[in-house]
Amino acid sequence: MLVGFKATIPFTLASKFISTYNYGFLSITPTTTLFTPPASLKRDENKEVDNYAELKEKVENLGICCNSVTPEEYTRLMCPKCKGGQLIERSLSFHMSWKRNYALWRCFNFECGWAGQILAHNSTATMASDGVHQLGRMNSPRILTEENLKLEPLDDVLAAYFAKRMISKDTLERNHVMQMAGDQIIMAFTYRRNGMLIGCKYRTLEKRFWQEKGTDKVLYGLDDVRDADEIIIVEGEVDKLSVEEAGFPNCVSVPNGAPQSIASKELIPPEEDIRFSYLWNCAECLEKASKILLATDGDLPGQALAGELARRLGKERCWQVCWPKKDEFSSYKDANEVLVNLGSEALKEAIECAVPYEMQNLN
Ligand SMILES: [Zn+2]
Repeated sequence: MLVGFKATIPFTLASKFISTYNYGFLSITPTTTLFTPPASLKRDENKEVDNYAELKEKVENLGICCNSVTPEEYTRLMCPKCKGGQLIERSLSFHMSWKRNYALWRCFNFECGWAGQILAHNSTATMASDGVHQLGRMNSPRILTEENLKLEPLDDVLAAYFAKRMISKDTLERNHVMQMAGDQIIMAFTYRRNGMLIGCKYRTLEKRFWQEKGTDKVLYGLDDVRDADEIIIVEGEVDKLSVEEAGFPNCVSVPNGAPQSIASKELIPPEEDIRFSYLWNCAECLEKASKILLATDGDLPGQALAGELARRLGKERCWQVCWPKKDEFSSYKDANEVLVNLGSEALKEAIECAVPYEMQNLN
């Protein structure tokens, strides 16, 4: 019966439905009003109720208690697999759509990472299969240590390199900046979560970058913003260290730089939003902040990155940092350039002079 019913939904509506998928806890824009069901969906409300009950039963059979869940919204629940881990957190981000009869979830406890989706039998959702579909773990079971990554303390060459970039020894140590053992000079920016090593980004003096494979994408410096009400986001690890030199440890860097341009498309579902998966993986820290300062590079990709972050984090709580002028025609590019050329006080002032994102980007 519902096969014909499915065919009555115009394609554009179906795709709009997917594209207006809300980022839940990352966005504070209320979007529930976007989900006005088409007349054809209202046609048979009993079917909807049946599908919903079926979906709820399937979800509960997996051990997910969804009594407190509001359909179409994201809810944080206790994960039945890890029971919230050591911190006993509500680590399971859960979403259930009444209208399209699917549920999906992901556990943000990095030791667990349980994720999946489930469809009611007669779902109109355009997902791959009926029944439970296990999504890939968001993190690898690989245990990283400084020993197995062959990391060691910075040698004189790199100590001098960072000194030139005005990054102090204290800041390097606090952030566990290391280097790869061996003949080549390779910096190692260690990514940690709750103090544990979970990733590493390498960089040569010639600005060649690569990351440790099979690791979760997270923000660099994540533990520094765990309980922060204000968070500063920059575009590179050295900028994070620079902002710290200006007196703000509550700063994180994106792990993968800036996109070339801002995507004109509407937001896609989080599972497909691979480039920005680090925001999802760090949602438990980001959702608590009331003010987020975007201090990305002043060039076009940097501004595109600010735009992409703002639309995911909720523009209302985003502020934009503008870098000081270098001369009549240009401005400094990033936090480290300001630190090196103008000093930590000037960098501090630039950050303190951030303006509301929406005011800066009126169009
Ligand atoms: Zn879990």
